[in-house]
Amino acid sequence: MDHHFTEIEGKMAHEPLAHSSTFSDETKDKMEHDSLVYSPRSIARATTTGIPVGDQGVAVLRGPLIVGAGPAGLACAALLTMLYIPYVLLERDVCVASMWHRRTYRRLCLHLPKRYCELPLMHFPRTYPTYPTRQQFLVYLNEYMRAFGIRPFFSLEVVAAEYNGEYWCVRTKDVIPTGTLNGQSGEESIREYRSKWLIVATGENAEPVVPDMPGIHNFKGQVMHSCDYRSGESFQGKKVLVVGCGNSGMEVSLDLANHNVHTSMAVRRSGHVLPREVMGISTFSLSVWLLKFLRVQIVDRILLLLAWFILGDTAQIGIPRPSMGPMELKQVSGKTPVLDVGTIAQIKSGNIKVFPAIRSFQEYGVEFTNGRIESFDVVILATGYKSNVPYWLKENEFFSQQSGFPNKPNEWKGKDGLYAAGFSRRGLLGVSMDATKIAEDIAQSYNNIYKLQRS
Ligand SMILES: Cc1cc2nc3c(=O)[nH]c(=O)nc-3n(C[C@H](O)[C@H](O)[C@H](O)COP(=O)(O)OP(=O)(O)OC[C@H]3O[C@@H](n4cnc5c(N)ncnc54)[C@H](O)[C@@H]3O)c2cc1C
Repeated sequence: MDHHFTEIEGKMAHEPLAHSSTFSDETKDKMEHDSLVYSPRSIARATTTGIPVGDQGVAVLRGPLIVGAGPAGLACAALLTMLYIPYVLLERDVCVASMWHRRTYRRLCLHLPKRYCELPLMHFPRTYPTYPTRQQFLVYLNEYMRAFGIRPFFSLEVVAAEYNGEYWCVRTKDVIPTGTLNGQSGEESIREYRSKWLIVATGENAEPVVPDMPGIHNFKGQVMHSCDYRSGESFQGKKVLVVGCGNSGMEVSLDLANHNVHTSMAVRRSGHVLPREVMGISTFSLSVWLLKFLRVQIVDRILLLLAWFILGDTAQIGIPRPSMGPMELKQVSGKTPVLDVGTIAQIKSGNIKVFPAIRSFQEYGVEFTNGRIESFDVVILATGYKSNVPYWLKENEFFSQQSGFPNKPNEWKGKDGLYAAGFSRRGLLGVSMDATKIAEDIAQSYNNIYKLQRS
């Protein structure tokens, strides 16, 4: 299996959006030898149930509808397959995990050790490093799809969903790229799917957040969001300002500095930065373990002491810490601490300059809140992402219309067969936990309904 992963990884490096429609030999072997885990019958079921709806048509589904084919949507699809429940999976892009394919930089690695990032029912290959690369993660997802016969419907964007008392009525916009050579927009057709179960798996990071900053429209240089950043290579010889010091801002800055780009970072708020590892042990694993025995405030004190030993006082280099500790803050607000992979060392050595918040943009530069004016060629906004649920889901009891997240933290189940997969702010670990609970819950009501019909 591991050798097989390496092979696809190579292929995907050249053809990242290609998906083979056949099962790999390794997977077939595994399915034959381990029918409990990979049942060909269940796979056949899952793949034949995605009814494409005719133009202007309405399809009433027997099973659940999943919106979004990122890791959360795929995990739900795999688990439903194993429970013999037919589903339909809709994705707005032309590939699965579009965030990982299209909106991440080339050198990205998983932030957490691989055992916390596996999807249900399938391990990462043993040959993968502790922190798999973005490319390895994509290969894993591709293999996951094949192993469970997951066939999403691509280029179908969900634009509205509403409960009519019996079904979730989900409308999609299908953009067919015709005449793209002339730059014309494609044809659109609207379809409707109806299902008793709606799984929202559109992600916490569905849309980039681009804040309106004073004078930004006067700036004559290039402005881009970090989701469009791929590598520092193309910025060599330029002066680049990265706005934001979350995981993305810190890693983009590091990548730029590693490419010898003249890099600066604007830090508006305080934030926790922790070393990714402490004496070879992942800080995340250590925190999880400590939290089993100790109060969160004590764990925070230990983590901050270790961070101080390893990274020093981050306030002195322009990144002050919040008054609340990292784990408590995560519990209270969902804000994840940054796991440092080398940015702090680059700041200390002067390769990355840190500035305070931006007061205003000028034609060729930026004025910071300390009054300093600096010129820049490029500004990269590492200003985060938001959920897009409020734009299309007509429901406000379970999902907040403001944040696009469930109103109560860690909630995965709403009323009338509505579910949220991947909104617990716990990364891929949370995705797996949600998917498992959702699939089990749907299995119960699905079996009740169809048992009643059969008897
Ligand atoms: C730069 C970066 C690095 C990260 N690294 C890690 C990490 O190392 N470990 C970790 O655990 N987490 C990490 N995360 C968090 C990561 O986003 C999640 O763990 C994971 O991708 C969540 O999967 P998801 O399926 O919930 O959402 P997504 O991966 O965002 O997938 C959602 C899918 O829904 C589709 N979609 C959205 N709206 C619609 C619509 N209206 N109609 C149809 N389809 C739609 C999207 O196109 C997308 O394919 C990272 C996030 C970022 C931004």
